[in-house]
Amino acid sequence: MTKDHQSGTRGSAIVVGASLAGLMSALALSRIGLRVTMLERSTRKVRTGAALPVSDGLLERLTGRRSPDGKDILPSGGQAWADVHAGLSSAAQADPGISLRSPVRVTDVGQDERSAWVVTDDGEFVRADLVVGADGHASVVRRHVVPEAPDATFSGYVIWLGLVDEREIRSRPWPSDLAILYERDYCLNAYYLPGADGSVAQGRRRIGWGWYDSGRNDLLRARGAVIDDVVQRTLRAADVPDATFDELADEAREIWPSPWREAIVDCIGRRAVIGTPIGEYLPHRLVSGRVCLVGDAAHLPSPMTGSGFDASAQDALALAEALGGNGNRGSISDALHRYEAARLDAARRLVRSGQSFNNSFAPRGAAQ
Ligand SMILES: Cc1cc2nc3c(=O)[nH]c(=O)nc-3n(C[C@H](O)[C@H](O)[C@H](O)COP(=O)(O)OP(=O)(O)OC[C@H]3O[C@@H](n4cnc5c(N)ncnc54)[C@H](O)[C@@H]3O)c2cc1C
Repeated sequence: MTKDHQSGTRGSAIVVGASLAGLMSALALSRIGLRVTMLERSTRKVRTGAALPVSDGLLERLTGRRSPDGKDILPSGGQAWADVHAGLSSAAQADPGISLRSPVRVTDVGQDERSAWVVTDDGEFVRADLVVGADGHASVVRRHVVPEAPDATFSGYVIWLGLVDEREIRSRPWPSDLAILYERDYCLNAYYLPGADGSVAQGRRRIGWGWYDSGRNDLLRARGAVIDDVVQRTLRAADVPDATFDELADEAREIWPSPWREAIVDCIGRRAVIGTPIGEYLPHRLVSGRVCLVGDAAHLPSPMTGSGFDASAQDALALAEALGGNGNRGSISDALHRYEAARLDAARRLVRSGQSFNNSFAPRGAAQ
């Protein structure tokens, strides 16, 4: 028999997924007075190497508050994924309007005229006024919102990602903060990030890198990271044969300039590398009744756009504006349609711009 927990029937929201889009949505919804329950399947948080552009005053716009001690827990500029996650998490933990339950995996979503609900993997029903799907590229909530097109499509390449303290490697600094380099069939995005202590001084920063590789799709399929045309999961270092790491290290020594070469070789030597197969999703809809999508669940652009995080922040702000901005007029469903009207075209443009890169980097016929 299933349990049925009534988490609230007025002024409440369930957010599925407590990563960046989920945390930003929860903060923005709490700001307009909704009680937010976040459900997250995973207790582990890693996204080695990815760098995210944080806009000025983002946390203040999400929460409507300045940090009480004036300390900026989410500084602007290019920030490491883990640091952005930590800043948003600590803001959410400090918010009495938000509760987080983890590990809880959502398996199904439903709604009727009076409420929306999710079903968890132990058969529990959690109910609220609306459900926000912030559950990423393989979204379960998307299956409810867009049943006719539920899956993101594999874009035909993996990104190897790593992160290293600058002081761990001997190299000359690169003249600018970012490099986007093409060699052979590869593309490398590499960047300086603040050190773990926030330092941006030369020698005390971190180096992040993402190596775009369309030549190892057989490995992704053999390891079940991509099945048919759908991305299933990220490769951990333990999934990658030593021979593949050796090939990558040899190629890095041959083709990539210093300091990125040393950073890559160091990360490979420590097996501190993950491989994320990349998918894409062009949205036609963001909303169905009381259920909506935000972040990568809503629209999945190539990371080459460098804009997935900002788009997720725009989603969170637009959602709060639609639900609470004008005195909460009309029904939840009307408000969510205002959210969709505010975000759908921009989201489609973003994904399309990423598809141009995907199509030239990994043409469909070659993406086997
Ligand atoms: C390799 C890579 C590099 C990137 N680089 C950039 C960049 O340079 N600039 C930029 O702006 N963006 C970049 N992005 C995109 C950016 O990271 C995302 O757009 C942004 O973080 C929003 O992600 P998300 O929170 O929507 O999804 P995710 O980070 O995928 O989070 C989804 C969350 O939902 C949880 N979840 C999933 N299913 C369930 C379920 N059934 N029940 C409960 N919980 C569930 C997951 O555990 C996860 O915590 C990059 C992405 C990748 C993959």
